Amino acid sequence: MSDATVPARKRQPSGRRPASDRVRLRRLPERGHYDRATIDAIVDAAVVGHVGYVVDGQPFVTPTAVWRHGDRLYWHGSTASRMLRATKDGVPVCVTMTHLDGLVLARSGFDHSLNYRSVMVLGRAREVEGDEQRLAALRDFVEHLFPGRWDELRPPTRRELRATTVLWIDLDEASAKIRVGPPKDPEEDRSWPVWAGVVPVRSAAGTPEPDAHLPAGIPLPAYLRGDALTGAARKASRPHPQRGGAP
Ligand SMILES: Cc1cc2nc3c(=O)[nH]c(=O)nc-3n(C[C@H](O)[C@H](O)[C@H](O)COP(=O)(O)OP(=O)(O)OC[C@H]3O[C@@H](n4cnc5c(N)ncnc54)[C@H](O)[C@@H]3O)c2cc1C
Repeated sequence: MSDATVPARKRQPSGRRPASDRVRLRRLPERGHYDRATIDAIVDAAVVGHVGYVVDGQPFVTPTAVWRHGDRLYWHGSTASRMLRATKDGVPVCVTMTHLDGLVLARSGFDHSLNYRSVMVLGRAREVEGDEQRLAALRDFVEHLFPGRWDELRPPTRRELRATTVLWIDLDEASAKIRVGPPKDPEEDRSWPVWAGVVPVRSAAGTPEPDAHLPAGIPLPAYLRGDALTGAARKASRPHPQRGGAP
């Protein structure tokens, strides 16, 4: 998909300057954002990220659950996970999070596109050390998805905590890229007799399905009712705050 038709004069970066040259958008830089408010909004709306790293010269990109606390982006998993074992000792990683907001249908195949919000973070992964610190990070993970749920849960055992690796990366070297709006057909294509426009895409949680072993009398928690249904899914469906709404 291409957006080569964006006029060069519009290609100005917005937001503050990139933290480093390697996170500076070259391609369509007017879609770049480097301010933490924009980056945090995209990260906080994400449930899944992709962690990229290299083992023995072979790149791997592993999808995994992610969450933010302050200036750090976290992910976790079994101590047996190759991804976690390979990246925990200060290994360089690249983590991305993407939200698809729309399918953009142009008059030519060349100008078809997608509306999206994405973040790319570069840095070195570090391990959360100590049971208390791991516990706090896991609490953040659950609370990110379901605000108020952690205190209702059976507390983790020491064995569970020891079987879990939690990693983090600083969010200080990151970029956001956002595309919004209609197709960018060149003027001479606009009269071509084919439908063109945007099909909005939304991420939405469905109706909760109770577990077969749920004892009678346990009500649906407030964080799963109506509009409160999963904090992350709710945030994911919000339009971008600075642009007044991806379609
Ligand atoms: C859902 C989705 C679909 C896309 N589809 C296409 C497609 O079909 N074809 C295509 O060419 N491109 C597509 N893109 C854009 C793509 O992610 C790249 O931005 C683009 O290919 C340019 O890559 P580059 O390496 O030349 O970028 P450069 O501008 O050279 O990258 C330099 C730096 O800019 C930042 N950056 C680049 N891209 C992103 C990004 N997406 N999010 C956050 N930071 C970024 C990074 O820090 C990177 O290190 C899509 C993006 C998304 C989110």
